Amino acid sequence: MIRFDRVSKRYPPGIDALVDLSFEAAAGELLIVSGHSGAGKSTLLKLIAAIERPTGGAVLVNGQNVGSLARGAIPYLRRNIGLVFQDQKLLFDRNAFANVLLPLAIAGFAPKEAARRVRAALDKVGLLDREKAMPIALSGGEQQRLAIARAVVGRPGLLLADEPTAHLDPDTAHDVAAIFREFHQVGVTVVIATYDATLFPEARPIRLDHGRLTQ
Ligand code: ADP
Ligand code: ADP
Repeated sequence: MIRFDRVSKRYPPGIDALVDLSFEAAAGELLIVSGHSGAGKSTLLKLIAAIERPTGGAVLVNGQNVGSLARGAIPYLRRNIGLVFQDQKLLFDRNAFANVLLPLAIAGFAPKEAARRVRAALDKVGLLDREKAMPIALSGGEQQRLAIARAVVGRPGLLLADEPTAHLDPDTAHDVAAIFREFHQVGVTVVIATYDATLFPEARPIRLDHGRLTQ
């Protein structure tokens, strides 16, 4: 499902975020990308979602070279990718239900089907009874679960998360990790960047050090 073929990423003015990186992930795998701060973890995820383009090599997702996609083709790629990224903030002016609804509303779903799917997604992250809550009223762990519900409401085959357990206490981090594990168990391909790989002992590790693969 994902293939990195000698991928490099250099940001101006010459920062090598990833260097000659090659690996493959089959559909349905759970991958943990770990490494120190600045190792290139976020960059790896951004290349998969075509948020950044490689400066060398090829990134293939479902056989498509995402580094050379035309701008107009990117929304189609993203439709199959759920993102749980730090910069994908919740909207604090609307409740939990409306936050999860947003991607479906943009995609033009009929209201009834959209509402059914929103509740299915909220149910999967254990927030069904909180649908009317405003994000500010949710705990940190609940906010992260809400972000996961929003990411999966379109039922993507691929779920990417960047440090989803950062800033959470250990118990809450375990609960959030369990939710990713459940999506993996129903066949979703899951790639998580985290400095704390111990939360996912069963996952396949991709370990980066200064942009190079060490494991
Ligand atoms: P990690 O997620 O492991 O902390 P990143 O992928 O965010 O690592 O960053 C890898 C390297 O690339 C770091 O040296 C970082 O400062 C640099 N970097 C990341 N994004 C940019 C950018 N947009 N412009 C310039 N340098 C960047
Ligand atoms: P339905 O639409 O059939 O009523 P759901 O939306 O609740 O059901 O999803 C059905 C099942 O599919 C759930 O058990 C869910 O965990 C699983 N599933 C498979 N792929 C995904 C995905 N990408 N995102 C969310 N759920 C998924």
